[in-house]
Amino acid sequence: MWFRQKPKPDIKQIIPLDVGGVKVKPSSRARRFSLRVDAKEGDVVFCWPLKSRVSLEKALKFVERHRPWIEDQRRNALQTIPFAPGTALPIAGKNYTIEHAQGRGLTRLEGDKLIVHGGVEHISRRVRDFLKAEAYRHFKEISDRKAAQLKLPPVSIRILDPNTRWGSCGPDGRLMYSWRILLAPPEVMDYLVAHEVAHRVHLNHSRRFWALCASLTNDAAQSRRWLRKQGRKLLNYG
Ligand SMILES: [Zn+2]
Repeated sequence: MWFRQKPKPDIKQIIPLDVGGVKVKPSSRARRFSLRVDAKEGDVVFCWPLKSRVSLEKALKFVERHRPWIEDQRRNALQTIPFAPGTALPIAGKNYTIEHAQGRGLTRLEGDKLIVHGGVEHISRRVRDFLKAEAYRHFKEISDRKAAQLKLPPVSIRILDPNTRWGSCGPDGRLMYSWRILLAPPEVMDYLVAHEVAHRVHLNHSRRFWALCASLTNDAAQSRRWLRKQGRKLLNYG
């Protein structure tokens, strides 16, 4: 059965600048209103669909209902977590505190400390370099293990710091991961690797891709949810 589409009414509506203190972004693609975090704005925005009629009253109610989420997102956006002595870092699922040590020495994990030597002005960069190296070690090991599960050879990976994605699989089969995922729960890291390694077989997001991805990790759905809801926080580090 099929339906003929009704001709779209030419909707003339007055679009407010904000709804309950949330900036409005008109969207010609959206069909319903929604709230999202806009990286460029660095804030929550209200997507106002140009294609449907929006009642301001309903929009306001929607914003009020999501007020706690909005406040959460705003707090996150403001809350940078510096790589400085005393900062707590969850590295691969274990909690460490950054500690500054005198003299020279390698940046390293010791007990529940991340020990960083040298001048205070270099701590941030040293922590970052350490996390990148550590991310490489973890991601390489998990990627190769999962590749072997699929009878694929070891994979070539690189560690970057992109703002908009946590990982990718290039057409050449090279995998990219954000070092920030090292600070996410280990199951999220495991899922991300499963996802990218599964792209070595399917370069798409087809059902077969998702089935393969699910066979490589424990709870893909939950990790995806975590990334969607909490992932942004990882951008606050350093
Ligand atoms: Zn993908």
